[in-house]
Parts: sequence; structure tokens; C-alpha cells
Amino acid sequence: MTKNILFLAHADETGKSLPKVAYDVLGAAIELAGKLQARLAVGLIGGEVASVADAIAGCDATQILAVSGADFASPRFSSDAAAAEALCRAAGAELILTPNTSRFQRALPALAHRLSGRVDTHVSSVAVVDGEVCATRWFYRQRMEGQIQRDERPWLLLMDPGCHEPWQGAAGTATVEQIAVSLPETVRRTKFLGIRSPKTDAQTIRPEAALLFVAGAGWTKKQADGKTHPEEAEKLILEFLAASKASLGGSKSLVDQSGENQAVLRFMTHLNQVGQTGATPRHPKGLSTCCHGEEPHVVGWRFVNERRAVNLDANCGWARGKADVLYVADAFEVMKELNALLATANEAKLSAATD
Ligand SMILES: Cc1cc2nc3c(=O)[nH]c(=O)nc-3n(C[C@H](O)[C@H](O)[C@H](O)COP(=O)(O)OP(=O)(O)OC[C@H]3O[C@@H](n4cnc5c(N)ncnc54)[C@H](O)[C@@H]3O)c2cc1C
Repeated sequence: MTKNILFLAHADETGKSLPKVAYDVLGAAIELAGKLQARLAVGLIGGEVASVADAIAGCDATQILAVSGADFASPRFSSDAAAAEALCRAAGAELILTPNTSRFQRALPALAHRLSGRVDTHVSSVAVVDGEVCATRWFYRQRMEGQIQRDERPWLLLMDPGCHEPWQGAAGTATVEQIAVSLPETVRRTKFLGIRSPKTDAQTIRPEAALLFVAGAGWTKKQADGKTHPEEAEKLILEFLAASKASLGGSKSLVDQSGENQAVLRFMTHLNQVGQTGATPRHPKGLSTCCHGEEPHVVGWRFVNERRAVNLDANCGWARGKADVLYVADAFEVMKELNALLATANEAKLSAATD
């Protein structure tokens, strides 16, 4: 029976808060500790963790441990693994629940090896089945769910966003127990120089957006006048993305076209592809345009709650129960109208804010 659980997290790039997913994992850890009647400790890693600890002071952990200082402010395999090891040992943790961030994905599998434990990444939920901890994760592009139980301890579970309702308790003044970790020079060899990322308006993939906008190959196909209109398609889509701040997805047919010398949307890459061989994004709403709604594509819409589609074809895949609403219409016309409505709404918002 598991008696010691550790919620392990690192500060985000601002150094002042936790990554959003950490709150989901904390919610899961608190619920699990309650079900197992286990002790829940918190372990924090960061440059300075006082504000992070204060933000979760109301979570009723029995202990808040931290490894902090300049050496732990930025992601680096060697120092992160050393810090996490010290925290796991100090807490005597048998089960470690932690966010599946890229920082931890790099450091924690090695930590499991050092602790002679086990690790599972991309965990989507954790429950108690017949008194034993049972983790789940998806396989084969979210088509099969695996349930995992292990005898080995410690067991590290790196949990994905959306794995649980986020913890939303009150902030306070936390008592933090610092764990000293002295790093040999070899561990400091790698220097963190900075993060390079595209400009926000060049960034079309926005995981936190309220809306996923998906463009299909229809945007580059011959239209009623017998011609293709890729420039107009690009303009309409970019205008919509700028006004709505939606995230951009694409169908496989569309993203493949750039390699096949066909008319293309220049901002669309394979990273935008949604589906069986693409991404499975999570957004509250989705709008699909000029995309047929084939099964291998719609598999990627699994976590999009409210789905709408615009297609000229009343018999497209969306019409067969895959969308909540299908508009049988010309997407060029619909998006033109939608952009005009958004421009008016955004202007009204702007003038209300400046009044
Ligand atoms: C093993 C396997 C894995 C796959 N994985 C993926 C995947 O991960 N993601 C993926 O997307 N696909 C995947 N596919 C391909 C998938 O089956 C479809 O071929 C693909 O999604 C079709 O893309 P599409 O709907 O954009 O294009 P099309 O099938 O060409 O459909 C274009 C649509 O646009 C509509 N249209 C055209 N003009 C307009 C207009 N003016 N207004 C409104 N509608 C218009 C047409 O009516 C048509 O329905 C996979 C296939 C296989 C076999």
C-alpha cells in the first residue's frame, strides 16, 4: 500500500509560478492521497520558489520541500535530475506525481533509474483500483487506453495536461524546507543560454487558445469559377487567426501539398496536422473548414468539445455525427463574413476600452 506521495514540480520560465499543467497534477495528487490515506508532500525546483510555494500554500500538503538557487532556475538535465533525486529521497516518496513538461521529460526517466524505480510518461489519469494505484495512458493515437499497475517503487508518473480538474485553493504563506544540493563542476558543464521561439504572430499553434481552426485541402482546390484561389485563402485564414487568436490545424492532405508542388498555404506545416498521424490538440471549440472529416483526421478531434464544420458537401464526414453543427456553405464566403463580424466586434471592444 502506497503511504508516501510526492507532488514534484518546477517553476515556469517566469520563475514565479508553476506551469499550468502542474495545477492539474496537484489536483490529482490531492485526490489520490485522500483515497489512499497517504501522506502528500510537495517538492519544488526553481531559482527562487517562495512565491510558487505561497501560491499552493492552501493545498494541505504535510510538507513543502524545495531545491532552489541560481543553479536550478533554468532547465538542465544534470541539475534537474540531482534536485529531483534529493527531493524524492527527502520525502521518502513511493509515488511521485509530476507534470509531463519538456523539462521533466528529459530529467526524470534517468532519475527513475538512479532510484531503482520506474517511470511512466504521458499519464492521462490515476486512480485506485482494488486498493492499488492504477495509471492510464493512451496508445496508438488515443485509440487504445492502457492501464498500468506496478509493484516497483518509487514509481514516477509524468502526467499530461487535462489529467484532472486543476487545484484551485487559496494562496498563503508557505513554510518551505530547503534541501541542500551541492553540484560538482561536471554537473554545471551545460550552460543555459535562453529560449528561442517564433514571434507570437508567426506562431500558429496556440495550445491555450479557446478555438481550434482547421483548414482542409478544399481551400486549395478549384472553386465554382474553375480556378484555385490560394492567395485569397491565405488572406482569409490569416485575418481570422489574427482577429480570433485561434490555433491553426490542418488536414493531412493540405499539409502534404507543400511537398507535392501544388497550390499551398505557406504558413501551414506538418506540425499543424491534426489526426491519426498528426496531433490531438485540446481546445474547448473547433471549427473545420474545407475539410472532409475523414475518420483518420477526426481521430485528432477527440478532445475538442464543441465541433462545427463548413463544407460545400452535405454528405461529408462531418455530417455523419462527427460535428455538432455542419454549415453546408462556401467557406470562402463564410470566412469573409466572419472576419467582417470579428473586425466590428474587435473595434467595439477597443473603443469601449479607450472610452
Ligand atoms: C493511415 C492513415 C492515416 C491518416 N492520418 C491522417 C491525419 O492524421 N490527419 C488527416 O487530416 N488525415 C489523415 N489521413 C488522411 C485522411 O484519410 C484524409 O485523406 C484527409 O484528412 C483528407 O483531407 P481533407 O479533408 O482536407 O481533403 P479532401 O478529402 O480533399 O476534402 C476537401 C473538402 O473540402 C470541401 N470544399 C472544397 N471547397 C470548399 C469550399 N469553398 N467551401 C467549403 N468546403 C469546400 C470539399 O467538399 C471536400 O469535402 C490518414 C489516412 C490514412 C490512410
